[in-house]
Amino acid sequence: LHAAYDPDNIFAKILRGDMPSLKVFEDDVALAFMDVFPQSEGHTLVIPKGIQARNFLDIPPDYLGSYMLRVQRIAKAVEWGLKPDGLRVMQFNGASAGQTVFHLHFHVIPAWDGK
Ligand code: 5GP
Repeated sequence: LHAAYDPDNIFAKILRGDMPSLKVFEDDVALAFMDVFPQSEGHTLVIPKGIQARNFLDIPPDYLGSYMLRVQRIAKAVEWGLKPDGLRVMQFNGASAGQTVFHLHFHVIPAWDGK
């Protein structure tokens, strides 16, 4: 949870264009792209662009609002586009909590009844 940010993590490579990704939204604050191992149709990841944050605790307070606005914007776009019955917006901090990529990301995961 307290290690330094590694600029060679997979999402940093995606941000630099060194790794391909299926981008669905990008501006100066955030990038959203499809999860390569989706937990459901439409599983999207939203990562910050302007800060080196491993996790939620690392977000500078003056960046929090603008980043979370993008997370909500992507959640609304996924809801509008796919009309799921529910939507999970979630985020893990530290390997012990299930985090595997150490560049901050929010998952937006649609859920359908009966699936
Ligand atoms: P975490 O468990 O760290 O919250 O989730 C990391 C997520 O990143 C997982 O859902 C995993 O499928 C996704 N992921 C891992 N490597 C890649 C990649 O190279 N490209 C994309 N688009 N997603 C990835």
